[in-house]
Amino acid sequence: TGAARGIGVANSKRFFVEGWNVALLDIEAETLGQTFKALASPDNTLAIECDVSDAKAVGFAIAKVSERFGRLDALVNNAGIAIFKPLLETMQADWDRVLAVNLTGPFLCTQAAAPLIREHGGGAIVNISSVASLVGIPLLSAYAASKGALDALTRSIAIDYATDGIRCNVVNPGLIDTPMAAPLMANPDQLGSILSHYPIRRPGKPEEVANMVLYLASDESAWVTGGTFRIDGGMTVW
Ligand code: NAD
Repeated sequence: TGAARGIGVANSKRFFVEGWNVALLDIEAETLGQTFKALASPDNTLAIECDVSDAKAVGFAIAKVSERFGRLDALVNNAGIAIFKPLLETMQADWDRVLAVNLTGPFLCTQAAAPLIREHGGGAIVNISSVASLVGIPLLSAYAASKGALDALTRSIAIDYATDGIRCNVVNPGLIDTPMAAPLMANPDQLGSILSHYPIRRPGKPEEVANMVLYLASDESAWVTGGTFRIDGGMTVW
């Protein structure tokens, strides 16, 4: 999900390299169309316009995946939004939307996808959270709350569905060079101040996150479930 740009595109490319078929879900139809055209052969790619916070749209998307590929081996809950505001300026509409996309989205996608994953012998769910779920970061109250809850949801799913062969893990990236992070990276002074918290003093690359996502989605990680995996240049250990 959230496959039209940023980390979602890097994930898709990484999976293609390994020979997977990939369904790209995104709310932004135009960007999704461009990404679809620029990616691998249409034979192993399916693009579906879908708002992950809309249960009906998610159900429809998973049905299309089933119809096209006949099975589902992994779900990557990557779609997310961030609103950079202090708590007192965070309107309830901001709060509701961030929670709807970042938390209700993975809940709905997992509910729709898990039966199909289970039907064909199991697989993996990878949730994309953030370091904001682990340490305090300014101006991200709604976002941090959504990602903290996503980490907790991951552990619950891992326990409930382990015996069905479904593993569920969460990835917690630090600052990654994508359109979402652009407002934080535009000003060199602000970027320098953010990177002073990173032992490896550069933003991460979407491809670096994709490597971890592929590991957690594939059988290489067959005995790994319920885990939180930081990919943050050392930010959270400082
Ligand atoms: P991005 O904004 O570049 O891309 C996000 C994609 O999600 C977009 O294509 C957008 O259209 C899509 N999307 C938004 N709302 C949607 C919805 N309701 N339904 C379907 N698709 C929707 O962001 P990114 O940096 O690639 O972020 C991907 C994930 O990584 C997010 O969950 C984000 O919270 C997380 N993350 C990003 C960073 C970072 O610094 N970039 C750091 C930590 C975590």
